[in-house]
Amino acid sequence: VDGGERGVHAFLHVNTEEALSVAAEVDSIRAAAGGAAAEELHALAGVPIAVKDLIVTIGQPTTAGSKILEGWHSPYDATVVKRLRAAKMPILGKTNLDEFAMGSSTEHSAYGPTRNPWDLDRIPGGSGGGSAAAVAAFEAPLALGTDTGGSIRQPGAVTGTVGVKPTYGSVSRYGAIAMASSLDQIGPVTRTVLDSALLHQVIGGHDPFDSTSLPDPLADLVAAAGVGHVEGMRIGIIKELHGEGYQAGVESRFKESLDLLRQAGAQIVEVSCPNFQYALGAYYLIMPSEASSNLAKFDGVRYGLRVLPEDGPMTIERVMGATRAAGFGDEVKRRIILGTYALSAGYYDAYYGSAQKVRTLVQRDFDAAFTVADVLISPTAPTTAFKLGEKLDDPLAMYLNDVATIPANLAGVPGLSLPGGLADEDGLPVGIQLLAPAREDARLYRVGAVLE
Ligand code: GLN
Repeated sequence: VDGGERGVHAFLHVNTEEALSVAAEVDSIRAAAGGAAAEELHALAGVPIAVKDLIVTIGQPTTAGSKILEGWHSPYDATVVKRLRAAKMPILGKTNLDEFAMGSSTEHSAYGPTRNPWDLDRIPGGSGGGSAAAVAAFEAPLALGTDTGGSIRQPGAVTGTVGVKPTYGSVSRYGAIAMASSLDQIGPVTRTVLDSALLHQVIGGHDPFDSTSLPDPLADLVAAAGVGHVEGMRIGIIKELHGEGYQAGVESRFKESLDLLRQAGAQIVEVSCPNFQYALGAYYLIMPSEASSNLAKFDGVRYGLRVLPEDGPMTIERVMGATRAAGFGDEVKRRIILGTYALSAGYYDAYYGSAQKVRTLVQRDFDAAFTVADVLISPTAPTTAFKLGEKLDDPLAMYLNDVATIPANLAGVPGLSLPGGLADEDGLPVGIQLLAPAREDARLYRVGAVLE
């Protein structure tokens, strides 16, 4: 990786040797003619995968895109990584991300930005821009991401790839460095809907190591992606998530998707989710609050970087202060400060408490919408990929990019983004988002297969 894969810089670490040895092992199993072992191989055995560098792996560093974890190696594998290894999928390496998954452009990585393979002057989305760019640039056929407010789906949208945020609790987060624990979810990043279903099936299902893991077995997602049938299905357009504020080219590709679904026999209805207008505000209180607590463990004692104060007394507070000042970037500091403030005595009810109430209202909007529609649809992001640097100094403009993806995280429902074609005005990929009720991930694959 010479500072970056023809300028894309999707990877922070490449693991050629181990990946090749797993691939060779699969080859030799397949070559052993008539061997029963070959039949037991998973469909994805030997298919390489890139893993977002927020997910811990034995034998490769995990940085979370932060200087505070530079050079740190996890002593254990995340559950999803264990499942990849069990399926004999070679792990190609670790992909770039906004530091601790905070951002929508991958510009907040401490190791330099990832660029969009469609146009190197543009962002690949975030926080999982590395995983999406690796798949879009044909560097990896499959990747894993994490989605707390859209970090799988929005990068998918702006790079023309498929990204899925599964139902909250349906894929184990054990070994995903926590950002906002009530929102985080691991999921697939791929080139096709069927690939996502196959990968989702490998990583999903109950895990006793994650206390939020759902007990139910996964539905047959691969079969759902194979069926691709929408006849008689009710698809709900979310009134609040298109139109004003959405780029014209995004809007026209969105309308085209609706036509496709109509032609395939779906019934298109309109639903209103009036509380979605407050979702972004609630998210940017809840997420920093949880993150400020989750990131307290990076104290210069337990993990990675330790910076000693240059002079004065060597107290624990001063070592922590010096380490966190040097180890965290600006966006992470901004959110720790915001979150600490929102949780502080005297402000807790006004900020965190109100945000939690909004969260309930968003969930009720979804409940009501799913009484009249089986699946909801919207553009994944309001615009196509913007230019590097364009929103870097304007956090609010950056946050606004997540307006369509955040409601699903607040409610825990599953979402899938898939390519909807290119916008007329700039020739860049447009993402279409599908949303289903919790535990109904299979519906996303059924509808997604028709739209693809
Ligand atoms: N862009 C959102 C944020 O900055 C989403 C992050 C994520 O899903 N990890 O918080």
